Amino acid sequence: MTDAEAKELETFMNGLEKRNEYEAEFLQAVEEVATSIMPWYLQHDRYRDAQILERITEPDRIIIFRVTWETDKGEIRANRAWRVQFNHALGPYKGGLRFHPSVNQSILKFLGFEQIFKNSLTGLPMGGAKGGSNFNPKGKSDREVMRFCHSMMTELHRHIGEDIDVPAGDIGVGSREISYLFGQYMRLENRWSGVLTGKGQSFGGSAVRTEATGWGCVYFCERMLNHHSECLSDKRVSVSGSGNVALYAAQKLIEKGAKVITLSDSSGMIYIKDGLSMEQWEDIRDLKEGSRGRLSEYESTGIEYHDGKEPWDIPCDIAMPCATQNEIDREEAEALVKNGVLAVCEGANMPTTVGAIEVFKENYILHAPGKASNAGGVAVSGLEQSQNAMRISWDREEVDSRLQEIMKRIHQRCVDEGQTSNSHVDYIDGSNIGGFKKVAEAMLSYGAV
Ligand code: NDP
Repeated sequence: MTDAEAKELETFMNGLEKRNEYEAEFLQAVEEVATSIMPWYLQHDRYRDAQILERITEPDRIIIFRVTWETDKGEIRANRAWRVQFNHALGPYKGGLRFHPSVNQSILKFLGFEQIFKNSLTGLPMGGAKGGSNFNPKGKSDREVMRFCHSMMTELHRHIGEDIDVPAGDIGVGSREISYLFGQYMRLENRWSGVLTGKGQSFGGSAVRTEATGWGCVYFCERMLNHHSECLSDKRVSVSGSGNVALYAAQKLIEKGAKVITLSDSSGMIYIKDGLSMEQWEDIRDLKEGSRGRLSEYESTGIEYHDGKEPWDIPCDIAMPCATQNEIDREEAEALVKNGVLAVCEGANMPTTVGAIEVFKENYILHAPGKASNAGGVAVSGLEQSQNAMRISWDREEVDSRLQEIMKRIHQRCVDEGQTSNSHVDYIDGSNIGGFKKVAEAMLSYGAV
């Protein structure tokens, strides 16, 4: 970056910080995108004159509301909930709902902002949004979760619709929560519509939606490796998390002949020196999806549990962070590089800090950012919307082949925009510029709206 470009970036970020003083995660997400696109952005006066960067970093609107619900003992509880409708230049707002005690406006704004570019990269007509609540579903009974979801939808239903805003799941929001939310929406609106994605397959859900983010991440990873004359087979892969994304990434990795050597949850990690077997994977899926258990409870040959540890100081060929934001900081990135990591492929949203990104960049590590590599989930959500609108349902093979095709197109877009002179691809720049361009063009076409 030249001095002039750096100065423009600094001026822009100073203004953003003044307007969003306490929103560290949001500022981090914008800084990553702005740093990456600034040289290109400044070469295009028409975007600059229309203040596209300033406009695209201001959400269309944020809805904040109280969710009051009752515990099984009849005690009253109140949580805060949000829907950040960030940008609908390309289509109805689309993005997940997160239930986690850490949820706040900054985290939802960062996720909604990232979602704009991710959705753009899929090539499907979807705008960017995110929502959620600081409600913690852990330790709650099914009836309590149901009462919370019904209460949340009692407000949320006014702001969403199949052509307005179509939420889906994220951390803490799986098929159980989506079903409760959908049931209440139908009751309030007295009509069936594809207003949420991630629904059960018996009531309008798409085949492969459960697997889509994890599988899509592996499809992307394989393309990235192949493009650089490498392959997945026999590679040692450190996966973090053991939720929806991590589990199905691990399943596809095993199917492709890679060795999954770690999984984790917020209490600790398991290390599997010789790689997880498909039987062990099935046990862990049942433990996590069936009884909502902890990894510490799982015992099997060749599996070591390490309490309070994360996977990043274990030597691996590929790191696949699939748990949450800012899991890999500068020191952990340095440890990965020192141990010979070849590629980092993000299943989670923004799992790497700015410092970690710099380390990977300086060392020419292949680094796929979540907005490209985890776009498979929202892509199949987009396919779910299409199937709902057409009142049809495609079988698993059909959806899987469309998912593979979309991941291939996203990869190609990153290559087209991020190819550097020495035949290395900068996937961060590629995905940011590729995602941004389309939204910017649409915003220009609409004039000053
Ligand atoms: P889940 O709730 O299914 O799983 C989350 C996993 O991450 C759990 O193993 C959880 O452990 C762990 N985790 C959560 N918070 C922390 C933390 N602070 N420290 C350590 N571990 C943590 O969520 P998903 O798998 O759906 O989502 C994971 C990531 O992928 C998120 O960043 C999400 O935004 C992103 N994503 C998800 C998509 C989807 O389709 N689901 C689509 C695109 C991106 P524990 O159970 O102990 O909390």
